[in-house]
Amino acid sequence: MTEKPKLGVYICHCGINIAATVDVEAVTEYAQALPNVVIARNYSYMCSDPGQLLIKNDIKEKGLNRVVVASCSPRMHEPTFRKALQEAGLNPYYLEMANIREQCSWVHEDREAATAKAKKLVAAAVAKVRLLEPLTSREVDAEPAALVIGAGIAGIQAALDIADAGFKVYLVEKSPSVGGRMAQLDKTFPTLDCSACILTPKMVDAASHPNIELLAYSEVEEVGGFIGNFEVKVRKKARYVDVSKCTGCGDCAKECRLAGRFPNEFDEGLGKRGAIYLPFPQAVPAKYTIDPEKCLFLTRGKCGKGPKCVDACRAGAIDFEQKDEIVSFKVGAILVATGFDVFDPVRKPEYGYAGYPNVITGLEMERLVSASGPTGGNIVIHNGEEEIVPKDIAFIQCVGSRDQSVGNEYCSRVCCMYTAKQAHLVKDKIPDARVRVYYMDVRAFGKGFEEFYDRVRREGIRYVRGNPSEIFKRGNKLVIKVEDTLTATPLEDEVDMVVLAVGLEPRGDARKIIELLRLSQSPDRFFLEAHPKLRPVDTATDGVYLAGCCQGPKDIPDTVAQAKGAAASALIPLARGKVAIDAQVAEVNEATCRGCGFCVSICPYSAIELVTVNRMGHMVEVARVNEALCKGCGSCSAGCLSNSIQPKSFRDRQILPQIAALGGTR
Ligand SMILES: Cc1cc2nc3c(=O)[nH]c(=O)nc-3n(C[C@H](O)[C@H](O)[C@H](O)COP(=O)(O)OP(=O)(O)OC[C@H]3O[C@@H](n4cnc5c(N)ncnc54)[C@H](O)[C@@H]3O)c2cc1C
Repeated sequence: MTEKPKLGVYICHCGINIAATVDVEAVTEYAQALPNVVIARNYSYMCSDPGQLLIKNDIKEKGLNRVVVASCSPRMHEPTFRKALQEAGLNPYYLEMANIREQCSWVHEDREAATAKAKKLVAAAVAKVRLLEPLTSREVDAEPAALVIGAGIAGIQAALDIADAGFKVYLVEKSPSVGGRMAQLDKTFPTLDCSACILTPKMVDAASHPNIELLAYSEVEEVGGFIGNFEVKVRKKARYVDVSKCTGCGDCAKECRLAGRFPNEFDEGLGKRGAIYLPFPQAVPAKYTIDPEKCLFLTRGKCGKGPKCVDACRAGAIDFEQKDEIVSFKVGAILVATGFDVFDPVRKPEYGYAGYPNVITGLEMERLVSASGPTGGNIVIHNGEEEIVPKDIAFIQCVGSRDQSVGNEYCSRVCCMYTAKQAHLVKDKIPDARVRVYYMDVRAFGKGFEEFYDRVRREGIRYVRGNPSEIFKRGNKLVIKVEDTLTATPLEDEVDMVVLAVGLEPRGDARKIIELLRLSQSPDRFFLEAHPKLRPVDTATDGVYLAGCCQGPKDIPDTVAQAKGAAASALIPLARGKVAIDAQVAEVNEATCRGCGFCVSICPYSAIELVTVNRMGHMVEVARVNEALCKGCGSCSAGCLSNSIQPKSFRDRQILPQIAALGGTR
């Protein structure tokens, strides 16, 4: 820097978070004596208004041209202090933070040693801040449209909110109908609303909204660009049915030679469908789809004397020539709402799910009790050839949740309550049924949950604390081996039917979305939010937001609340029409770059490309950074073989003195 450095150093107590372990007075005194430090102060909460005012006033009154704040992680408050510098007329990038909370007071107990370390961190920040260069962030235009991936209740709600705010939404759903898991549910806890009754109007609204373009039976294939300017390619899979002609009458399905031959996925395999099908009666769009893996004509080129569906369709909608279509568009924000899979209990062989038809999952139970389900809502089981009404029914909770043996340590948050709901529905439909629930703990934390749990117990549902070790067959009965852990009594409980309260898991096909959008996963493998408390719907990729169970297990109210939050966040760049691009990005020295492309391969944000330039009459390849995509992480710099790429504010000449100061003994 050419002007004389005039530094201000501000040490935060963070209440007692820092001050209880670090002697802030001693650090202040030490900082005051460092070269070029004009003023050093400490204050209880530097991030508070009065704290920021101290900095602003000193900049103006003492002519400070560089600022060091020794407080918490820059991830927490760097934007706060940059803004304070800017408001006082200083370049916001003339700031360096020393993290004396996470890196010092929170990880040390010895006050003397922690104080010594805090002094070193401050000295290092002072050594660097003098060498910082002024940077300017830029703004680019944002496309006034959003992409929502997944049309369960999360995606539908988010799409409706963004569309109602006046912006175009592309709603992409993988399966032939929108609705997700909620469409499969019968009633919903704790209020027992009929799931279809509250969901179907929203499905219809989403499909008919003038601002929403629904791309059902479609998948996102490519995503390029950056916040405000994403370029998206979507594959619209061929339905082999012209949706503009299909009236949804169903004559084709009745005539299909393979009608009723395949398990219907929507009914969890309990019901059957043909090769041409509508997943469920309220499907949106109400258009039939031909399954290309099942249809005789598509797999063998021949279906009897000719496909009967063609003759049956009076609208002439069957179109075997139809091909997949690629649709391209630009959006400013992307919302991921791809939901969850249920745990496959085959992975817990002790429960006999694979071998015993009367051991079913909670989701299968939803279809069994549903009036639109395969049995018309009658709870029946197969006893040899006979269909009977079960009288002894047991629910087992926490199947695939809170279970290290299957790699799922987390609680799935909905199973306790959906079990209580299903137990109630069983009692409602079979009043003389004897229903018991085997549980580890009951988690009834939501609004009205504890009251609902009390209600079902009053209705005669028996809760037995115990984690069954085995289920086996004795005659026509299923025997549950379990210890009642409250009375320490080993039991063998004979029942007709067992319902496994399977937990929620990340989707098996989530990897594709992770790669397309550069998302991260938390240890439970669900998509990772940018910050668990303060940025719960953002991701590490700017402009990409999360909603619903793709981020972690949750019930419908929490899913809807999060979807509304994610929609509000996605609306920020759309409504502003502009997005700010951070200035602290990597920069290439094109004169020394060898164009080896190593940085291109290691950049986790795909922010670098090779371009051809004229270097003194020779056309050569060099690396170039897309500043909108770059996060300034420095991976490129660490890997560069010719030392030609460095992040601004983290150049060698800036961080080497910082490191040297850390090694100093003052
Ligand atoms: C047995 C059971 C009973 C339950 N009962 C209740 C209850 O009574 N009350 C309650 O509040 N909650 C209940 N829940 C929880 C409820 O199901 C969830 O809260 C809700 O479904 C979450 O919605 P979602 O939109 O996040 O995910 P989902 O419902 O899973 O929807 C995700 C959608 O995204 C689509 N998709 C996935 N990947 C892609 C992709 N790559 N491209 C495009 N589309 C994609 C899927 O096809 C799906 O349509 C229950 C859950 C279970 C398992």
